[in-house]
Amino acid sequence: MTRVFNFSAGPAMLPTEVIEQARQEMPDWHGSGMSVMEMSHRGKEFMSIAEQAEQDLRDLLAIPDNYRVLFLQGGASQQFAMVPLNLMGRSGKADYANTGAWSKKAIAEGRRYGEVHVCASSEDDGFNSVPDFAEWELSKDAAYVHITPNETIGGVEYPGLPDTGDVPIVADMSSTILSRPIDVSRYGIIYAGAQKNVGPAGLTLVIVRDDLIGQAADSVPAMLNYKTHADAGSMYNTPPTYAWYLAGLVFQWIKRRGGLETMGDINRRKAEKLYAAIDGSDFYANPVRPEHRSWMNVPFTLKDPALDPLFLEGAAERGLKTLKGHRSVGGMRASIYNAMPEEGVDALIAYMDEFAKQHG
Ligand code: PMP
Repeated sequence: MTRVFNFSAGPAMLPTEVIEQARQEMPDWHGSGMSVMEMSHRGKEFMSIAEQAEQDLRDLLAIPDNYRVLFLQGGASQQFAMVPLNLMGRSGKADYANTGAWSKKAIAEGRRYGEVHVCASSEDDGFNSVPDFAEWELSKDAAYVHITPNETIGGVEYPGLPDTGDVPIVADMSSTILSRPIDVSRYGIIYAGAQKNVGPAGLTLVIVRDDLIGQAADSVPAMLNYKTHADAGSMYNTPPTYAWYLAGLVFQWIKRRGGLETMGDINRRKAEKLYAAIDGSDFYANPVRPEHRSWMNVPFTLKDPALDPLFLEGAAERGLKTLKGHRSVGGMRASIYNAMPEEGVDALIAYMDEFAKQHG
């Protein structure tokens, strides 16, 4: 099996071990004579897969008992609507922090359903930092505070959490979930599209505190109501069964590696060495304030953007794929989620060094 180092922001690399296990199990899952793809979601085989996956996720994140885990579809983008549809009615108003492209999308969608107050913004700083928590203008009557702990395009990551008192924090953790341990009890809702650190596209994880379920108005479509999915164990309709199964294999892989503490250590090391390579050269640059740099998405520019195509071509020849930056920022972006091995980061750094020496 030839595998490249794929630096895509998502869908992203999955662990080779997981791909291999899925290949072996594909035609006949555990002697059932069926592929997981062919199983009834209500049959005992799939139910066991689903329950195991949820338990493993609960173990990894130490999810408290008063939180429900939902395995949904629609991506993080659907959560941009589901969150206000379920929670905004509590006061008609919510606080949103604006830290980049994904916050902006959440804000735009939130505005359809109520009053959105932008409580903090780093727009004036070119979205190269997280606004100082002491300066946030939080509303006392906000139904929730929405944050994007990791901005996938800008490569900006929160250094911690603001103190919002009794107002629940809703976090779009699409590109940072499972990258290290977190304290779930500090959040009201955590949501994430799976296609970065969890599994294949098509699955969306929502971790929601009990008391935030059941607050949607009657007019909210059943499929967009957290209560529908919580009451039905995420089986109100046909869930994305194969993606759920693969996410379960990823959870087990993380457990085998030592859990989120270990993942956090590896991820910190990978990110630190890549940023050190960027900062240590005058050929590459990253504009994000060092203490707010993402461990998962590392954008960088070359001294001369005219060299971008040549850089990408040489990288691809070495099996370093999908390094082109997001179209809105240009340059390069290396997404180094859990499944990117440290050797992939080392190979990228070696290539960057070689390219800078040749063209610097
Ligand atoms: N939020 C963040 C932080 C993201 O990175 C992405 C996808 N890149 C989204 C939301 C949108 O996710 P989806 O495509 O699953 O709707």
